[in-house]
Amino acid sequence: MSDEGRFGQYGGSFIPEILFNSQQDLLSAYREAMADPEFKAEMLAQMQQYSGRPTPLTPCPNLSQQLGGAQIYLKREDLNHSGAHKMNNVIGQGLLAKRMGKKRVIAETGAGQHGVASALVSARLGLECTVYMGAHDIERQYPNVFWMKQLGATVVPVTTGAATLKDALDEAMRDWSSSFNDTHYLIGTSCGCAPYPEMVAGFQSIIGEEVLSQAPEVLGRQPDKIYACVGGGSNACGIFLPYKGTTTELVGVEAGGIGDGVGEHAMRFNTDQARFGIAQGYATEFLQDEQGQLLPTQSISAGLDYVGVSPILADMVKRNELRMTAARDEAVLDAFKRLATTEGIIAALESSHAVAAAIAEAPKLSRDEKLVVNLSGRGDKDLFNIASALKDAPFNDFLADYLAREKQA
Ligand SMILES: *Cc1c(COP(=O)(O)O)cnc(C)c1O
Repeated sequence: MSDEGRFGQYGGSFIPEILFNSQQDLLSAYREAMADPEFKAEMLAQMQQYSGRPTPLTPCPNLSQQLGGAQIYLKREDLNHSGAHKMNNVIGQGLLAKRMGKKRVIAETGAGQHGVASALVSARLGLECTVYMGAHDIERQYPNVFWMKQLGATVVPVTTGAATLKDALDEAMRDWSSSFNDTHYLIGTSCGCAPYPEMVAGFQSIIGEEVLSQAPEVLGRQPDKIYACVGGGSNACGIFLPYKGTTTELVGVEAGGIGDGVGEHAMRFNTDQARFGIAQGYATEFLQDEQGQLLPTQSISAGLDYVGVSPILADMVKRNELRMTAARDEAVLDAFKRLATTEGIIAALESSHAVAAAIAEAPKLSRDEKLVVNLSGRGDKDLFNIASALKDAPFNDFLADYLAREKQA
């Protein structure tokens, strides 16, 4: 990758001129920090002592036997502090912000997981934290908003556009344009202007590095295929990049939503509604119409509900280093239930996309093949969405009773 942060035709830095210097500062600070053994040791210590790394590689014998094909293993990013891989990135960027002498971080969030992760790390490292979040996402993920507030962060609702992640991104960029002297913009995924795609992928690469060293003991060798869900692409970059150039096949899984029509999904590869474009500071495959207008997206999981995608992954797809498939909401819910009942693991709906793809492909493969699925997060945060999707009536009765009791009190 070049200094301009290009990955083939993708990536780059398309930002207002006023941000140019701070973006250059960030790029050199990141490269210096990663070459400094002291910084890397401090980062590793936080990942171990605060977030619980290394996360295990868990065999799924019951699920594998039921499917009657390839053996499935899970990389357990759900066991990170706060329940997702996002912790890896915020620890890296939080420590980098401190190293650069910043006192405040701003963040954008979709599912709320990155907001919570940013608020957690800010509290631990003594940084002030402001989180921009689409008003629609706030409704879908209010429990995460509640926790951000408890952690001392300021949550700013964004009501422009569709009031989801891409609108929150625009607002955060606006803040950064006037606050960069004392503020670090903590982007939550491997997207945006350089150096964010490279930097976030770099901080997340601990996932794949751990799998590389764990696989010989747990699988007896390296895996044949690795699956990861792809929203912005950070958990996928994290597990894929250390395997680049090996014989392991890399498979990304995007949100198939409820159908192939415009606004029914969040697929940027398995569709003809996406094309090369420049938005939000970088170039990638965006879901957009012929005029370049970004299209609405939909997914059962807020974390995969995004119009763009990591330029690193877009370039890998172009070079045939990465196969991109998709899972529809229905298959995702089935995968969620299947993993819960066979292995006793409650996966996030985002991660259940990757599980769904492995479940679809495993039966067609031989019993000697070994698949690793990146279980990016746990499903506790999806309680309300899953109960609603599964039409669990007693859950609604519980909520009604709870509300009635609260009103009386
Ligand atoms: C945020 C999130 C994702 C999507 O983000 P990526 O940058 O694509 O990894 C996936 N899984 C979980 C559990 C998340 O919280």
